[in-house]
Amino acid sequence: MTTHIDDNLDLDGDSVVCRHCGTEIGTAEAPLSKALVRESDSAADNPGVRADPTTFASRRVVSRRAICPGCLTQLRFEIVPADEAELRHSSLAVSR
Ligand SMILES: [Zn+2]
Repeated sequence: MTTHIDDNLDLDGDSVVCRHCGTEIGTAEAPLSKALVRESDSAADNPGVRADPTTFASRRVVSRRAICPGCLTQLRFEIVPADEAELRHSSLAVSR
């Protein structure tokens, strides 16, 4: 059974797949575990950002993108402290 997760991802059994190209991106327990992850300086990503993030946060802040390795569709975007885990954890698994 295939479950529609969002505009980019489907859950097919226990596999999370890209809706655009069918590439397996992860599992229900770790939906983006096979996605490409790219980081960049959050202030450099938007010309409207003029203030240095360290003015407001004590930790370095980065933009982090999860990208489908098959078709390069951006699957998730986060602005997070640079020293946090690679991607924030999410799960589609049902615990009983
Ligand atoms: Zn794809």
